[in-house]
Amino acid sequence: MTDYTHIEVPQGQRIAIDAGGALQTPNRPIVAFIEGDGTGPDIWRAARMVFDAAVKHCYGAGREVAWMEVYAGEKANALCGSYLPQETLDAIREYHIAIKGPLTTPVGGGYRSLNVTLRQQLDLFACVRPIRWFEGVPSPVREPHKVDMVIFRENTEDVYSGLEVAAGSEEARRFIAFVSRAFDWHIRPDAGIGFKPISKRGTRRIVRAAINHALKHRRASVTLVHKGNIMKFTEGAFRRWGYELVKEEFADVAVAWEDCNGQPGDKLLVKDAIADIFLQQILTRPLEFDVVATMKLNGDYISDALAAQVGGIGIAPGANINYETGAAIFEATHGTAPKYANLDKVNPSSIILSGVMMFEHMGWGEVSDAIVNAIVKTFKAKRVTYDFARLMVGATELKCSEFAESVAANL
Ligand code: NAP
Repeated sequence: MTDYTHIEVPQGQRIAIDAGGALQTPNRPIVAFIEGDGTGPDIWRAARMVFDAAVKHCYGAGREVAWMEVYAGEKANALCGSYLPQETLDAIREYHIAIKGPLTTPVGGGYRSLNVTLRQQLDLFACVRPIRWFEGVPSPVREPHKVDMVIFRENTEDVYSGLEVAAGSEEARRFIAFVSRAFDWHIRPDAGIGFKPISKRGTRRIVRAAINHALKHRRASVTLVHKGNIMKFTEGAFRRWGYELVKEEFADVAVAWEDCNGQPGDKLLVKDAIADIFLQQILTRPLEFDVVATMKLNGDYISDALAAQVGGIGIAPGANINYETGAAIFEATHGTAPKYANLDKVNPSSIILSGVMMFEHMGWGEVSDAIVNAIVKTFKAKRVTYDFARLMVGATELKCSEFAESVAANL
């Protein structure tokens, strides 16, 4: 066990991970948490209360989470003089699993985004976003119950890699001169430039994770979403490498659309869709989509568009997972909503449902089921926070903590 300067390691055991990336969760696992900035402390307090109550409800005194606070964001800067201390990364690496509230992106700080840095440093290559509707939740569409998808978005590549040079900079000038000379490419001299790397290895591991998830959860299809018609060597290659993987690793259990004419029999169907038409069809024909694998930028747009269909970002959970090492960070997908900080007001459902994903990942599926059932009961009773109350008729508006108490009481 490593000694940390600011992190206090609680009594408990480390979650072990075997060679295949499977977790061995002890009865008192140490789980790291980052409270988050802005409304983070409010939603974390509420969520932790629900998590502890649900574990006790399922296992009595037999199991309990040993929560270990690790620091990032404003609290870390005040305590350790850094927005993302090295020991936070070390502790998450050592203990494998963490859950976090939202973090402010420091303006003018050393990092473009703490979230992006955490994902890149820990190589958490899969951003997993399950999107489903819960009865009672207000939605802008007529049939929100038809949305039930899981988005697997590649986290480490694409135009978000941070490989950018500013317009007018020496780097941009050198780059423009180089590609003009070497490739006869003509880029305007006043252009800012960003790079879009998409690798075969990066593609294969995200598509593999999506297929494995679909098989494990008996889903009907995996859709590869891309703009390969335009960006042939990046997004087009993603599609091609995805289909190659199906043939090479999953031929006995999955089949590509073109090899079965859309009739997969008892195998998993792997198909693809162009990103723009896909964004139309998730509104007009959501039943046709199930698990989705895509690159970072498409995935970002798709997950927020889908979240809006089922109640918005206040309720959308997320996880960042490396399926090869088992390491994962589960997180609220909304931001810090600073105007509501310390008002005990906002909706804690996003972080609570991220915890549901975390318990599933840890193999404590009973806890996940118990929380989901309790949350559904609470929504059905129209006992909700302000964001849902303003869209519902006859709702009882609850504070963040009161909503959590209501969920705990419904376990
Ligand atoms: P935001 O914090 O997500 O807030 C935008 C609006 O979304 C809020 O004003 C509120 O809407 C609604 N909202 C957010 N969280 C909610 C919740 N839990 N319950 C109910 N409604 C909620 O987005 P932002 O204002 O663009 O970003 C603020 C900061 O968060 C920035 O520093 C940004 O970098 C950071 N951020 C962090 C993450 C992350 O850590 N994963 C993600 C995104 C943004 P109403 O005003 O309509 O009530």
